Parts: sequence; structure tokens; C-alpha cells
Amino acid sequence: MSSPQANASSPSPRPKRDYRSRRKVCIFCVEHVREIDFKESARLRRFLSDRGKIDPRRKTGACAKHQRALAVALKRARFMALLPYTAEHVRRFEPSR
Ligand SMILES: [Zn+2]
Repeated sequence: MSSPQANASSPSPRPKRDYRSRRKVCIFCVEHVREIDFKESARLRRFLSDRGKIDPRRKTGACAKHQRALAVALKRARFMALLPYTAEHVRRFEPSR
């Protein structure tokens, strides 16, 4: 009862849903980071969402230990005004106009 798929747009035969073994490893573990430096705000920025929220583990891929350390570092960076708390702050940071 399965209808044959008409392949009109993509001529190259590509196997779908074949990324099963793509396991995320904690990038801090890979780099052997012991303590996450809150002064590296440019790097830490990647772990904030566009709304200024700290990304969850499933997004950062960090292990429990490093996700915890990351959250602390991000909060310190926020306190030092290196990173925004909310999207509202992001807007203020940008020199628009
Ligand atoms: Zn880790």
C-alpha cells in the first residue's frame, strides 16, 4: 500500500535518515577544559540562545559536569556585563541608529 515516490526535484539519490551514529560529545571534554573562563565571552556567546537564554544540554552537547560549569561561567559573564541576560539587552548592546 505504499505509493512510489516521484523524485522530481532532487536527481541525486541520497539516503534519508542515515545519521544515527552522530553522537554528540562534550566539546569541553574534547578540549580537556578544566575550568570554563567567563572572560571568554566571545566563545561563551555560542551557548546562549538568541533570546539570551542558556542553551540546554541537548543543544550544547556538554556533559553534566561541563554544562554546570558552563552555566556558572555564563552567569558570571552576565554579571560582568560581558553577556546579555535577555533579548532586551541584546537590542541595547547593538549600536543601531
Ligand atoms: Zn564535559
